[in-house]
Amino acid sequence: MTDCLFCKIVAKEIPASIVFESEDILCFEDIDPKAPVHILVIPKVHFEDVKDLALKNQDLAGLLLANAVKVAVQENLDKGFRIVFNTGSDAGQSVQHVHAHLLGGRSLTWPPG
Ligand code: 5GP
Ligand code: ZN
Repeated sequence: MTDCLFCKIVAKEIPASIVFESEDILCFEDIDPKAPVHILVIPKVHFEDVKDLALKNQDLAGLLLANAVKVAVQENLDKGFRIVFNTGSDAGQSVQHVHAHLLGGRSLTWPPG
């Protein structure tokens, strides 16, 4: 999708601090981190949100989750972490390219609000 911010990051048209990249997945640091570790995990192919992804490609949805966990292990988040998919306007999704937020490195409050 030509006018999508995260597609542009995938295409390297916009720079990002990449922590892991494979054929299908890109993981990069959030530009406005909400925790000491705040990494976005995305499929390189454009899907609007996690519903769009999981309904259309379960294998890729599983791969996305597995990669988020792999990065959590890489980042030594032994005391815990959170993986969040903001989905739709009620959840405050601001970028319409599915992304898992991996958050950790501090005690995280619940409920998130
Ligand atoms: P959402 O609000 O859609 O769940 O999350 C979008 C996330 O993308 C936000 O946490 C925001 O800080 C991050 N973000 C927005 N623009 C950029 C950017 O240009 N680069 C990076 N690395 N992150 C971005
Ligand atoms: Zn996109």
